[in-house]
Amino acid sequence: MNKIIGIDLGTTFSAAAFMNNGRPEIIPNAEGGRLTPSVVAFTSEGRQLTGSMARTQAVANPERTVASIKRRMGTDYRVEIDGKKFSPPEISGFILRKIREDAEEFFSEKIEKAVVTVPAYFNDNQRQATIEAGARAGLEVIRIINEPTSASLAYGLHRQDVHYVLIWDLGGGTFDVSVLELGNGVFEVKAVGGDTRLGGDDWDRRIMDYLARGFEKRYGVDVRKDRTALQRLKEASEKAKKDLSITEAVDIRIPFIWKNKDLEFSLSRGQFEDLTGDLLKKMVEPTNRALADAGLAPPLINRVVLVGGSTRMPAVQRLARELLGKEPCQDLNPDEVVALGAAIQAGILAGKIKDVVLLDVTPLSLGIETEGSLFSGIIKRNTTIPVTRGLIFTTAKNNQTQVDIHVLQGERLLVSDNISLGKFELNDIPLGARGEARIEVTFRIDANGIFQVKAQDLYTETEKSIRFNSSPRLTGDEINRMIEEARIHAGEDQKRKEEIQIGIQAESMIQAARVLLEEGKDTLENADEDEIEKRILSIKTCLSRGEYQEAGAKITELKEMLEVLSATVERKKKVKAVRVS
Ligand code: AMP
Repeated sequence: MNKIIGIDLGTTFSAAAFMNNGRPEIIPNAEGGRLTPSVVAFTSEGRQLTGSMARTQAVANPERTVASIKRRMGTDYRVEIDGKKFSPPEISGFILRKIREDAEEFFSEKIEKAVVTVPAYFNDNQRQATIEAGARAGLEVIRIINEPTSASLAYGLHRQDVHYVLIWDLGGGTFDVSVLELGNGVFEVKAVGGDTRLGGDDWDRRIMDYLARGFEKRYGVDVRKDRTALQRLKEASEKAKKDLSITEAVDIRIPFIWKNKDLEFSLSRGQFEDLTGDLLKKMVEPTNRALADAGLAPPLINRVVLVGGSTRMPAVQRLARELLGKEPCQDLNPDEVVALGAAIQAGILAGKIKDVVLLDVTPLSLGIETEGSLFSGIIKRNTTIPVTRGLIFTTAKNNQTQVDIHVLQGERLLVSDNISLGKFELNDIPLGARGEARIEVTFRIDANGIFQVKAQDLYTETEKSIRFNSSPRLTGDEINRMIEEARIHAGEDQKRKEEIQIGIQAESMIQAARVLLEEGKDTLENADEDEIEKRILSIKTCLSRGEYQEAGAKITELKEMLEVLSATVERKKKVKAVRVS
């Protein structure tokens, strides 16, 4: 099987990883870097740049540079560059394309599949947009997983005696807090929070402003007004910030930043922390709120995981210790850990890792039994939870006052090939013809894995529901076996489904014919009655011989005949009625 890579499609940086002899490793990009800036740009000649080339020229060419597109995923937003409009999945697609092409170059083989990570709070639209971005890049996104789950996988927490994990993800532009619960190898998102406007860029800006103000005091010029100077200031500030994560003080020097003047300053870690203390404080409230939402106090958290390059700042690590009373996990590179986890997930899906890890997605489709013992899916396999999906069903028989809701999971089209999870009845459906009732069946799996099925008669509003204490769980092998069987039997299952549907159509058409024969017994010509009987018989004969195609054609012929004759019967009835009166 071709390689499946894991991709962290980040707001500021993206990274890709793969499994090498059972261990996840970062795939270097074409420039030899381990991280690829999530930036896309077009030159004035219309050439497209992606990654570090795009990032380097961003300040000098802001009109044709797109950064942080992840914030817009799943929205109708369009970026307009030189009169051409791009959707967020198109821009993200350029980033994923570069990642795919760089990986192909690295491995000298084609890469077609990937596991891509998204923030835990991403909704369906945002997840769909991410899948679309993959498709645009020539990548089939075989699984979307939550970033905090991915980081926990990278730390191997699913194999440890851990119940609750708190993840801080402080990247370039966003801060996310997630609280996960682990049980039986399943990661469940208990709570999410954060600040979508807080990230390493804010820390950079503080240094930039400090330097620019100092320069202005000395020379009376605000260098931020000059694009090239601004870009140099920005780069120097970020570098100083990163250096201050490992040293106590830095000397910052930008030669000839304005005319023949150099910018020269020293900055200590203490000064930097004073300049940014209020930014750090902004992390406290969302963390406390996420803990409160999860109903947990800090001592109950078993592990604190730091994700995102900005968690390298010593002040952030200190705050984690103070607030959560624990030494945070930081052995892995915080800006690589999400991609590494995605590679592990890819390895699990490729069958290379035997761990049984059911992530926070539905491993198999969930649905109900419908007429003819067919399985009708409501929630598709691999849907990320929490999720709520509903479909409207109706009655199969006339005057049916009760429906059986038989809940199943599996990938096969016939009920008998899937796993039954439970059954309940919905009663008191008003008398009526088949197909008249409107029964809405809603499946809901919440973030805690609680699976609830509700059936409601939309006319009377009578409803009934059942709850499964946890979403149905099978071992990885059982799931893989079911998926594989569904694939192997897809053709014959589809054929069998069509045959059953022809049988159902035949039954309903024969019933309609009998009604017409009864209603038209005084008005129909004998020859027509005989012809109807003949056609009914030939449909039955075809079905008994297993000649479904022929039966289908005969059902259509009978249907056409019934339409013509029922119009005649109606007309004659009306004439009769006039005569009587
Ligand atoms: P991410 O989006 O997770 O890759 O995070 C990128 C952010 O992490 C940027 O703002 C970087 O400046 C920041 N960052 C990376 N390395 C360091 C470091 N050593 N110290 C402080 N911030 C860093």
